Amino acid sequence: MMMKRNYELLMQEQLKKIEKGTPLLLHSCCAPCSSTCLERLKEYFQITVLYYNPNIDEREEYEKRKAEQIRFLKETGWADFLDCDHDNEAFEEMAKGLELEPERGKRCYLCYQLRLRKTAEVAKEKGYPYFATTLTLSPYKNAEWLNEIGENEGGRYEVSYLYTDFKKKGGYHRSTELSREYNLYRQDFCGCRFSKRTGQ
Ligand code: SF4
Repeated sequence: MMMKRNYELLMQEQLKKIEKGTPLLLHSCCAPCSSTCLERLKEYFQITVLYYNPNIDEREEYEKRKAEQIRFLKETGWADFLDCDHDNEAFEEMAKGLELEPERGKRCYLCYQLRLRKTAEVAKEKGYPYFATTLTLSPYKNAEWLNEIGENEGGRYEVSYLYTDFKKKGGYHRSTELSREYNLYRQDFCGCRFSKRTGQ
């Protein structure tokens, strides 16, 4: 049987070898999730947040989350910001036939993959040696899958993937504290129209 890997420990091992100020492209789903991740990583990396979330169904919701992300970065100065198109068609194309999948099912796997693949691609294109995602902060997301996907996409684009399990060490709780401190908008569904139905 395969041993479960401890991604928090793997990250700590990677951080020991990183030269301070190494550029990192951090995929972020929203300001609240990014808060803890940035707080933890900013002393090691020069971070750029990539906002690529084609899963978000309505344009209004998409813009609202993006605006909060930008405001949070302006207020803290913890990272630069890099925007992507909404690209909702890419998500809808991927989700065809998977509409009834449950939370943490195949649709979610492919949704993680869509976002991490783009992040690795942009990291390669723009010369970032490392990339990562904020998605492992959420207790509702499968960190095993996210890290496997990150590893694979890093291999595909020859960019180092930073392993993470941000929910460890009270990460999620800390994001709620920072969200309160910065008065951040916290949505109550993951993003896609299917998650609205189930409150995922
Ligand atoms: S529930 Fe969340 S992770 Fe799953 S497909 Fe929808 S937006 Fe993506």
